[in-house]
Amino acid sequence: MVRVGILGLQGDVLEHYELLKEIEGVEPVIVKDARSLALVDALVIPGGESTTIGRLIEMRGLRDYIIERVRSGMPILGTCAGTILLATRVEDREVGEVRQPLLKVMDIHVLRNAFGRQKDSFEAEVDIESIGRVKGAFIRAPIIKKAWGKAKIIGRIKHPVLGKIGVAAIQDNMLAVVFHPEITGDNKVHLFLIDMAKGRM
Ligand code: GLN
Repeated sequence: MVRVGILGLQGDVLEHYELLKEIEGVEPVIVKDARSLALVDALVIPGGESTTIGRLIEMRGLRDYIIERVRSGMPILGTCAGTILLATRVEDREVGEVRQPLLKVMDIHVLRNAFGRQKDSFEAEVDIESIGRVKGAFIRAPIIKKAWGKAKIIGRIKHPVLGKIGVAAIQDNMLAVVFHPEITGDNKVHLFLIDMAKGRM
């Protein structure tokens, strides 16, 4: 049994839970504290409001615990706001360089709210290296402008205004997608995370 945690502080926690529940051999666990974090083999940081999730991570004293587990190899998946939290460098389309609490574990440069407002949300299929074609919902999504060091952009889409943009990246045990695969019900990204976890068991 692979225990996959979903950071349950804010955002679309239940959508990930429901999707993971349907995968055989997987037990989804909602993680709210260090004790539940210690029990999981992988972790999902869901979409939501990255500022709020980041503040709650700090308030609950979870920041160091998450970073420590990621550094020791626990597979982690950030979706949308989750990608923002993983990034080393974050800018906002409106306000520029942000001053919000981040985990800063992944060498990616992310632009927050790159597509504009909620009404500019859309669905698109993305070809992701090693994962395949994934259907994702882009909801006030960020984009991945750059990856360096061991981080690599592994998925791009062509946007009518922004051109070719990075929407998925990987760095060792860390996977970041700027869209929501849990909303379209496509489980390929989660299966990839689970495979990474199995590889360590
Ligand atoms: N715009 C949100 C943020 O900056 C992310 C949106 C999402 O997770 N759907 O945190």
